[in-house]
Amino acid sequence: MTNFDPWAAILERLDDAAKLVGLDPDILRILRTPRRVLEVAVPVRMDSGQVEVFTGWRIHHNTTRGPAKGGLRFHPQLDAREVAALAAGMTFKTAVANLPFGGAKGGVRCDPTQLSSTELEKVTRRYALEIMPLLGEDRDVPAPDVNTDGRVMAWLMDTISTVAGMSEPGSVTGKPLSIGGTLGHTGATAAGVVVCVRAVFRETEIGIAGSRAVIQGFGKVGGPLAFLLSSAGMRVVAISDIGGAVYNPAGLDVAALSDHVRSHRTVAGFDRADALAADDLWGIDCELAVPAALEGAIDDHVAARLGAKVVVEAANGPTTLTADPILERRDVVVVPDILANCGGVTASYFEWAQNRQGYAWDEHTVAERLRAGMDRAFAEVWAKAETLGVGMRRAAFAIGVERVAEAIEARGLFP
Ligand code: NAD
Repeated sequence: MTNFDPWAAILERLDDAAKLVGLDPDILRILRTPRRVLEVAVPVRMDSGQVEVFTGWRIHHNTTRGPAKGGLRFHPQLDAREVAALAAGMTFKTAVANLPFGGAKGGVRCDPTQLSSTELEKVTRRYALEIMPLLGEDRDVPAPDVNTDGRVMAWLMDTISTVAGMSEPGSVTGKPLSIGGTLGHTGATAAGVVVCVRAVFRETEIGIAGSRAVIQGFGKVGGPLAFLLSSAGMRVVAISDIGGAVYNPAGLDVAALSDHVRSHRTVAGFDRADALAADDLWGIDCELAVPAALEGAIDDHVAARLGAKVVVEAANGPTTLTADPILERRDVVVVPDILANCGGVTASYFEWAQNRQGYAWDEHTVAERLRAGMDRAFAEVWAKAETLGVGMRRAAFAIGVERVAEAIEARGLFP
């Protein structure tokens, strides 16, 4: 995981998709380079009185299909190559989900666990100001990602609106409901993952009831996912997070685990389960493994001893390039990130559409459209995989690349 280069990984997947679909080499050259890379200094007066200067980025990979869309990540190891890779992933993800967006990503290299709430707000607002030339509901619409949430999105929206001198709800998604967020946004990524789990289990003839799942990550995606999978009748037998891992072969009590995490900030120490070395989660014999933390989690070693029959990638870029063929050889079915986790950006699209309409949808409409969109995307990728005789990852990239290429051809190259 230490030498994992997410940008090199996404380029290799793009090149592979280009070969699969016979992509015009001129279009491949365009897609191998991000459209815009903005690096900003984020100076903040800390609670100590001293000024600290953080580094932030906002990267637009491609905006041919619509305004740039992608999350903001606050993480101590963030760098430009990771942000660029995540931005490119968004280009192909929005295309697979068939949403009218391009791909972007952004964030600040910082450790939010070491910042007070005041410092976090200052980092967010100053970062928002620095990247503001790129933002706007028709230009670039950020959303939450790792270590950012509705509160951060509210500060972002407020900063954009204050500078504009008018309310700009459509400039940010993942906002609280009180300022134009959508019903069903929290948990939308997890809900989309569950649609994919049901669909891939159906195709591979695995029953949901009683089958076992392991999840890496218990955050905004992994947390609601654990609830949804257990309410669907699965046994979530192991969960890990940054602090450790816990295991209960009878199925974890997810509600009790959530309470534990609320007071201890980690799953470690949960007394209704056995402690597990975080890495041992992957070896557990089960039907489903869901990486829902960071990139590069499933490397060669993990792939070689993975105990699951199916991997549904809730995280972005969780499987390394060299792990892919190992999983394939071992007949592990992988539902790739750009399909499996596109429920989040789909709900963001619904929020943006509601903000532009000035008309809020009810919860049923959001949930039903999300389910229908995910089902359609899964079916298209599954069918493409059968037609091309490849795994779902290569098929999803093929669909994404074809849709973006079609848009580039339709618009032509300026000047
Ligand atoms: P989050 O910050 O809410 O949660 C991340 C979780 O991962 C936490 O439980 C953390 O403890 C855990 N984690 C971090 N490092 C770990 C490690 N080394 N080992 C085990 N666990 C570790 O983030 P999130 O929003 O849940 O995002 C998780 C993943 O899903 C990311 O890859 C993100 O890009 C992707 N994703 C998120 C959304 C969304 O709606 N939030 C949408 C699409 C994709």
